[in-house]
Amino acid sequence: MHGGLSDPLPGGACRICGGPLLPPARDAGTLSDLWTDENLCRRRDATHICAACSWFTEGKNRSTIWSGRPVVYATPRDYRTLTLSELHDLLARPFDVPAVFLVRGTGPNLARKHTQWRALEAVTFDRSCVRVTFFGVQTSSDSHHVSGTATFMADTFVALVKEMHSRAYPYACAAAEAMSGKRRGTRPGEAFMRRYIMAHLVAALKKHLSPTVYLAAYVAAAIVGQDLKTEGRVK
Ligand SMILES: [Zn+2]
Repeated sequence: MHGGLSDPLPGGACRICGGPLLPPARDAGTLSDLWTDENLCRRRDATHICAACSWFTEGKNRSTIWSGRPVVYATPRDYRTLTLSELHDLLARPFDVPAVFLVRGTGPNLARKHTQWRALEAVTFDRSCVRVTFFGVQTSSDSHHVSGTATFMADTFVALVKEMHSRAYPYACAAAEAMSGKRRGTRPGEAFMRRYIMAHLVAALKKHLSPTVYLAAYVAAAIVGQDLKTEGRVK
Protein backbone atom coordinates (compact mmCIF):
# COMPACT_ATOMS: atom_id res chain seq x y z
CA MET A 1 0.00 0.00 0.00
CA HIS A 2 1.10 3.54 -0.68
CA GLY A 3 1.03 6.59 1.52
CA GLY A 4 -0.91 9.81 1.35
CA LEU A 5 -4.51 10.79 0.83
CA SER A 6 -6.40 8.93 -1.84
CA ASP A 7 -9.94 8.50 -3.06
CA PRO A 8 -11.62 5.45 -1.57
CA LEU A 9 -13.63 3.02 -3.63
CA PRO A 10 -17.29 4.05 -3.87
CA GLY A 11 -19.24 2.56 -1.00
CA GLY A 12 -16.10 1.74 0.89
CA ALA A 13 -15.92 1.33 4.64
CA CYS A 14 -13.39 2.57 7.15
CA ARG A 15 -11.06 -0.21 8.16
CA ILE A 16 -11.03 0.84 11.80
CA CYS A 17 -14.55 1.99 12.71
CA GLY A 18 -16.38 0.24 9.88
CA GLY A 19 -18.30 3.44 9.09
CA PRO A 20 -18.91 4.93 5.64
CA LEU A 21 -15.72 6.12 4.06
CA LEU A 22 -15.91 9.64 2.66
CA PRO A 23 -12.92 11.54 1.29
CA PRO A 24 -10.38 12.49 2.41
CA ALA A 25 -9.62 8.97 3.50
CA ARG A 26 -6.20 7.70 4.40
CA ASP A 27 -4.55 4.57 3.13
CA ALA A 28 -4.33 2.20 6.09
CA GLY A 29 -0.79 1.39 4.93
CA THR A 30 0.29 4.79 6.23
CA LEU A 31 -0.46 3.87 9.85
CA SER A 32 2.56 4.42 12.00
CA ASP A 33 4.71 1.59 13.28
CA LEU A 34 3.33 2.36 16.70
CA TRP A 35 -0.09 1.13 15.59
CA THR A 36 -0.67 -2.01 17.65
CA ASP A 37 -4.42 -2.16 17.69
CA GLU A 38 -5.21 -4.16 14.58
CA ASN A 39 -7.60 -6.26 16.64
CA LEU A 40 -9.83 -3.18 17.04
CA CYS A 41 -10.48 -2.95 13.29
CA ARG A 42 -14.11 -3.50 12.35
CA ARG A 43 -13.43 -4.13 8.69
CA ARG A 44 -10.14 -5.85 8.15
CA ASP A 45 -11.02 -6.33 4.48
CA ALA A 46 -11.05 -2.53 3.95
CA THR A 47 -7.90 -0.69 2.93
CA HIS A 48 -8.66 2.90 4.01
CA ILE A 49 -9.44 4.71 7.22
CA CYS A 50 -11.63 7.78 7.74
CA ALA A 51 -10.29 11.11 9.01
CA ALA A 52 -11.92 10.64 12.40
CA CYS A 53 -10.08 7.38 12.95
CA SER A 54 -6.95 8.88 11.44
CA TRP A 55 -6.99 11.40 14.23
CA PHE A 56 -7.12 8.67 16.85
CA THR A 57 -4.08 6.94 15.43
CA GLU A 58 -1.94 10.04 15.71
CA GLY A 59 -0.60 10.38 19.20
CA LYS A 60 1.02 13.76 18.71
CA ASN A 61 -0.55 16.87 20.16
CA ARG A 62 -3.64 15.06 21.28
CA SER A 63 -3.40 16.27 24.84
CA THR A 64 -2.88 19.81 23.56
CA ILE A 65 -6.03 19.55 21.49
CA TRP A 66 -7.95 18.24 24.47
CA SER A 67 -6.58 20.66 26.98
CA GLY A 68 -8.48 23.69 25.77
CA ARG A 69 -12.05 22.55 25.29
CA PRO A 70 -13.91 19.54 26.61
CA VAL A 71 -15.54 18.26 23.41
CA VAL A 72 -14.02 16.78 20.26
CA TYR A 73 -16.24 16.50 17.20
CA ALA A 74 -14.54 14.47 14.49
CA THR A 75 -15.91 13.80 11.00
CA PRO A 76 -14.23 12.17 8.03
CA ARG A 77 -13.30 15.65 6.81
CA ASP A 78 -11.83 17.19 9.92
CA TYR A 79 -12.17 17.52 13.65
CA ARG A 80 -12.70 20.44 15.96
CA THR A 81 -13.05 21.12 19.63
CA LEU A 82 -16.11 22.65 21.23
CA THR A 83 -17.39 23.84 24.58
CA LEU A 84 -20.27 21.89 26.13
CA SER A 85 -22.59 24.75 25.24
CA GLU A 86 -21.40 24.59 21.61
CA LEU A 87 -22.04 20.84 21.61
CA HIS A 88 -25.62 21.56 22.59
CA ASP A 89 -25.93 24.17 19.82
CA LEU A 90 -24.41 21.81 17.27
CA LEU A 91 -26.86 19.05 18.12
CA ALA A 92 -29.77 21.47 17.77
CA ARG A 93 -29.09 21.91 14.05
CA PRO A 94 -28.14 19.65 11.13
CA PHE A 95 -24.52 18.54 11.48
CA ASP A 96 -22.05 16.52 9.44
CA VAL A 97 -22.11 12.75 9.82
CA PRO A 98 -20.61 10.25 10.27
CA ALA A 99 -19.07 11.74 13.36
CA VAL A 100 -17.35 10.78 16.57
CA PHE A 101 -18.22 12.85 19.64
CA LEU A 102 -15.98 12.75 22.68
CA VAL A 103 -16.53 14.59 25.92
CA ARG A 104 -13.67 14.93 28.34
CA GLY A 105 -14.27 15.29 32.04
CA THR A 106 -11.58 15.99 34.58
CA GLY A 107 -10.45 12.45 35.26
CA PRO A 108 -6.90 11.20 34.86
CA ASN A 109 -5.58 9.25 31.88
CA LEU A 110 -7.70 11.08 29.34
CA ALA A 111 -4.89 11.09 26.82
CA ARG A 112 -4.55 7.33 27.01
CA LYS A 113 -5.13 5.62 23.75
CA HIS A 114 -7.33 2.85 25.08
CA THR A 115 -9.67 5.29 26.74
CA GLN A 116 -10.10 7.15 23.47
CA TRP A 117 -10.55 4.01 21.43
CA ARG A 118 -13.75 3.33 23.28
CA ALA A 119 -15.27 6.12 21.24
CA LEU A 120 -15.08 3.88 18.20
CA GLU A 121 -17.96 1.95 19.69
CA ALA A 122 -19.84 5.16 19.34
CA VAL A 123 -19.83 6.47 15.79
CA THR A 124 -22.85 8.65 14.95
CA PHE A 125 -24.35 8.10 11.51
CA ASP A 126 -27.63 9.89 11.93
CA ARG A 127 -29.19 12.55 14.18
CA SER A 128 -31.86 10.08 15.22
CA CYS A 129 -29.15 8.03 16.90
CA VAL A 130 -26.37 10.24 18.24
CA ARG A 131 -23.65 8.56 20.28
CA VAL A 132 -21.39 10.50 22.59
CA THR A 133 -18.58 8.89 24.54
CA PHE A 134 -17.60 10.68 27.72
CA PHE A 135 -14.84 9.99 30.20
CA GLY A 136 -13.87 11.12 33.62
CA VAL A 137 -16.86 13.33 34.38
CA GLN A 138 -17.25 14.28 38.03
CA THR A 139 -20.20 15.68 39.92
CA SER A 140 -17.92 17.17 42.54
CA SER A 141 -14.20 17.43 43.04
CA ASP A 142 -14.19 14.47 45.46
CA SER A 143 -16.70 12.19 43.69
CA HIS A 144 -15.60 9.31 41.48
CA HIS A 145 -15.18 9.75 37.73
CA VAL A 146 -17.99 8.56 35.50
CA SER A 147 -17.49 7.36 31.94
CA GLY A 148 -19.91 5.95 29.41
CA THR A 149 -21.60 6.27 26.07
CA ALA A 150 -24.82 8.21 25.74
CA THR A 151 -27.10 7.22 22.84
CA PHE A 152 -30.01 9.49 22.02
CA MET A 153 -32.08 11.31 19.41
CA ALA A 154 -30.55 14.76 18.93
CA ASP A 155 -33.88 16.56 19.36
CA THR A 156 -34.71 14.69 22.55
CA PHE A 157 -31.32 15.49 24.03
CA VAL A 158 -31.57 19.18 23.15
CA ALA A 159 -35.03 19.32 24.76
CA LEU A 160 -33.73 17.50 27.85
CA VAL A 161 -30.87 19.97 28.29
CA LYS A 162 -33.28 22.91 27.87
CA GLU A 163 -35.62 21.44 30.47
CA MET A 164 -32.80 20.88 32.97
CA HIS A 165 -31.45 24.35 32.29
CA SER A 166 -34.80 26.03 32.92
CA ARG A 167 -35.19 24.16 36.21
CA ALA A 168 -31.62 24.66 37.42
CA TYR A 169 -31.14 28.28 36.40
CA PRO A 170 -33.40 30.03 38.99
CA TYR A 171 -32.05 27.74 41.69
CA ALA A 172 -28.47 28.49 40.65
CA CYS A 173 -29.11 32.25 40.72
CA ALA A 174 -30.49 32.00 44.26
CA ALA A 175 -27.62 29.75 45.37
CA ALA A 176 -25.00 32.08 43.88
CA GLU A 177 -26.56 35.05 45.63
CA ALA A 178 -26.72 33.24 48.98
CA MET A 179 -23.08 32.17 48.67
CA SER A 180 -21.99 35.67 47.70
CA GLY A 181 -23.65 37.02 50.85
CA LYS A 182 -21.94 34.50 53.08
CA ARG A 183 -18.64 35.38 51.58
CA ARG A 184 -19.10 39.10 52.20
CA GLY A 185 -19.42 40.30 48.68
CA THR A 186 -17.15 37.78 47.04
CA ARG A 187 -18.79 35.64 44.40
CA PRO A 188 -18.43 31.89 44.01
CA GLY A 189 -16.37 30.67 41.04
CA GLU A 190 -17.96 29.42 37.86
CA ALA A 191 -16.34 25.97 38.07
CA PHE A 192 -17.55 25.56 41.63
CA MET A 193 -21.10 26.55 40.66
CA ARG A 194 -21.11 24.23 37.64
CA ARG A 195 -20.21 21.24 39.82
CA TYR A 196 -22.71 22.34 42.43
CA ILE A 197 -25.53 22.40 39.86
CA MET A 198 -24.38 19.11 38.37
CA ALA A 199 -24.39 17.46 41.79
CA HIS A 200 -27.93 18.69 42.47
CA LEU A 201 -29.25 17.63 39.07
CA VAL A 202 -27.71 14.18 39.45
CA ALA A 203 -29.12 13.83 42.98
CA ALA A 204 -32.59 14.91 41.79
CA LEU A 205 -32.49 12.51 38.85
CA LYS A 206 -30.94 9.62 40.72
CA LYS A 207 -33.74 7.17 39.91
CA HIS A 208 -33.65 8.00 36.21
CA LEU A 209 -29.92 8.24 35.73
CA SER A 210 -28.70 6.86 32.40
CA PRO A 211 -25.62 7.89 30.43
CA THR A 212 -27.84 10.26 28.42
CA VAL A 213 -29.41 11.90 31.48
CA TYR A 214 -25.98 12.17 33.10
CA LEU A 215 -24.47 13.80 30.02
CA ALA A 216 -27.46 16.16 29.66
CA ALA A 217 -26.99 17.23 33.30
CA TYR A 218 -23.30 17.86 32.62
CA VAL A 219 -24.09 20.01 29.58
CA ALA A 220 -26.97 21.84 31.31
CA ALA A 221 -24.81 22.62 34.35
CA ALA A 222 -22.09 24.02 32.09
CA ILE A 223 -24.58 26.28 30.30
CA VAL A 224 -26.03 27.49 33.61
CA GLY A 225 -22.50 28.20 34.86
CA GLN A 226 -21.72 30.13 31.68
CA ASP A 227 -24.95 32.15 31.98
CA LEU A 228 -24.18 33.08 35.58
CA LYS A 229 -20.71 34.15 34.58
CA THR A 230 -22.02 36.32 31.72
CA GLU A 231 -24.41 37.93 34.17
CA GLY A 232 -21.68 38.53 36.74
CA ARG A 233 -23.30 36.31 39.37
CA VAL A 234 -20.19 34.12 39.60
CA LYS A 235 -16.60 34.89 38.85
ZN1 LIG B 1 -13.28 5.40 10.87
